[in-house]
Amino acid sequence: MRKKLIVGNWKMNGSLAANAELLAALKAGFDAAQADLALCAPAPYLLQLQAALQGSGIAWGAQDVSAHEGGAYTGEVSAAMLRDCGCRYVIVGHSERRQYHHESDDLVALKAQRALAAGLTPIVCVGETLPDREAGRTEFVVKRQLSAVIHAVGHCCSEIVVAYEPVWAIGTGLSASAAQAQAVHAVLRAQLRAATGQAERNRILYGGSMNAANAAELLRQPDVDGGLIGGASLKAASFLSIAAAG
Ligand code: PGA
Repeated sequence: MRKKLIVGNWKMNGSLAANAELLAALKAGFDAAQADLALCAPAPYLLQLQAALQGSGIAWGAQDVSAHEGGAYTGEVSAAMLRDCGCRYVIVGHSERRQYHHESDDLVALKAQRALAAGLTPIVCVGETLPDREAGRTEFVVKRQLSAVIHAVGHCCSEIVVAYEPVWAIGTGLSASAAQAQAVHAVLRAQLRAATGQAERNRILYGGSMNAANAAELLRQPDVDGGLIGGASLKAASFLSIAAAG
């Protein structure tokens, strides 16, 4: 059985003081028997997470990574630097990056490749917009997005985490139903299996308005192996109850 993985995506939120409070509460409430936990924080706070979380059993990671290895790329942060700050994970291809920074499937795939080469686990986000869903294109879109990554990383595919995040569910309070999530997760697992011969190790997370109230039903689905949590990860109580629901 795959152990559930609950990842907090803090997005562009936090401060040294607020993070310290949140981290203390999460450490106090963390129960390793329930689920694996990870926090993806803005880059300036990664060393704060390293100092606070080392040895706690809670992992940390970044929300993006450069597609370049290093050198003259002002403003970019490399996968090796993230690894240097103790990161285990990095989110790649979040829909906010695809939308606001025009990240293509190929760029996201390259980022996943860079992450793996540096020893990080990429959390590869895929998901359809509302017009995609209404036009019956959900499966086509998520498979196209994942296919670019599969193509780029080859046999390392068994090392990736996938997050299915329907764009219409992110930050809207309108989560996908458990049945909608399970249907897409099954498609993604089948795609991984077809590519590598096995997909039982891959954790496929659901993200998009997951909260303490809807987590249990989503996490009960056979192919939903955890959650990528935005808003509800900013309060210790809601994040910990999602972990407990898994
Ligand atoms: P949300 O965000 O939980 O606030 O909907 C999820 C995400 O964007 O990863």
